[in-house]
Amino acid sequence: MKKITVAIDGYSSSGKSTMAKALARAVGYAYIDSGAMYRAVTLYAMRHGLINADGRPDEAALAAVLPGIHIDFRVPAGGGASHTFLNGEDVEAQIRSLEVSSHVSPVAALPEVRHALTCLQREYGKAKGIVMDGRDIGTTVFPDAEMKVFVDATPEERARRRFRELTEKGDSGVTYDQVLANVLERDEIDRTRKESPLRQADDAVVLCNDAMTADEQDRWMLDLFHKRTAE
Ligand code: C5P
Repeated sequence: MKKITVAIDGYSSSGKSTMAKALARAVGYAYIDSGAMYRAVTLYAMRHGLINADGRPDEAALAAVLPGIHIDFRVPAGGGASHTFLNGEDVEAQIRSLEVSSHVSPVAALPEVRHALTCLQREYGKAKGIVMDGRDIGTTVFPDAEMKVFVDATPEERARRRFRELTEKGDSGVTYDQVLANVLERDEIDRTRKESPLRQADDAVVLCNDAMTADEQDRWMLDLFHKRTAE
């Protein structure tokens, strides 16, 4: 069967990653979480004092240190799903915090950051056989992807999912309202930025998953994948 590129874009916490991971596992493709890369750069910026008091990143300083920021994905020593590594350190847990979520969109709006990460993402996709999720995968990173999906759900449903995820991980210091505010803020910044704004690619298939179970979503993805690989 021919190998294709699968691009899954959509709003924050729409369940893209869960679906993308499940599809990659089912068809034996590599999975890359492009949001994790933006989160890792943001964590680096936070740790190195490159976020100003008003929450805006120091663009020039961050651009200068970008060549020294190395991000990769590795399966941790105990096995299981791959984790995000920042300069050799496993930062999978840290990059999912609400603090990183609240700084990531302004960092991801910087052209220098986008260019560096887009190059890295294209490198991962060179040999096809990849599922990548994010905001601009079908529009900018892989405009020729054979399968493009745009996932949507109401902000309230997305915030509920994200809140559940955070509390299950033991982050008890956050409220549902904080998560909802963050989801809305990130959507707005991602949608209105100049560089590769979040938008549906013209040839993407839209999946509104508000009322779908995880199994239904996985089956939907797999059906579309089989259609695309048969074309
Ligand atoms: O997907 P996730 O919510 O982890 O992404 C975190 C943030 O990274 C998004 O809110 C967005 O600002 C940015 N992002 C992006 N382009 C991508 C993936 C993520 O701008 N391809």
